[in-house]
Amino acid sequence: MGLPIAKIGIVPCSGEALPAGTVCRLACRQVLDKLLPSQTVAICLPLFIAGGEEERRFATRHPTITVDGCEKRCAAKATELFSGKPVQALLIPDILRKHGIPMPARLRGFGAGEEAAVRVVAEEIVRAVDAAAAQTQTQESQHGAL
Ligand code: SF4
Repeated sequence: MGLPIAKIGIVPCSGEALPAGTVCRLACRQVLDKLLPSQTVAICLPLFIAGGEEERRFATRHPTITVDGCEKRCAAKATELFSGKPVQALLIPDILRKHGIPMPARLRGFGAGEEAAVRVVAEEIVRAVDAAAAQTQTQESQHGAL
């Protein structure tokens, strides 16, 4: 029998003022709804900051991956402050730069022109979740073997 699937918390930065925030929300939704629905749980950053006990408890007990739209890194900082250091702190400008994809210029009404940016960010989140899940399962099996 295999180990249960580890649940990983995804914390999108929820940015509304920058196109990167839109990329962030859409990419996280792709991961949560379509790519890895059974492995991931959304953590609502505004509720988390406002004192949501359930969100903070989950983020304390499970690995988290933060996804931020800019260098202010709101999701990574809040997660570390209220629950613990995320296992990976992704930054959208870095991901797009790595893939040679320009940052979308519009805030909403995303279409085919913005699809590549959303897709590469979603793929990067999937890689981060896979790595976090593998690490968690290794730790669990080591503890179980003690
Ligand atoms: S990280 Fe940047 S884009 Fe995201 S919520 Fe903070 S200021 Fe806005």
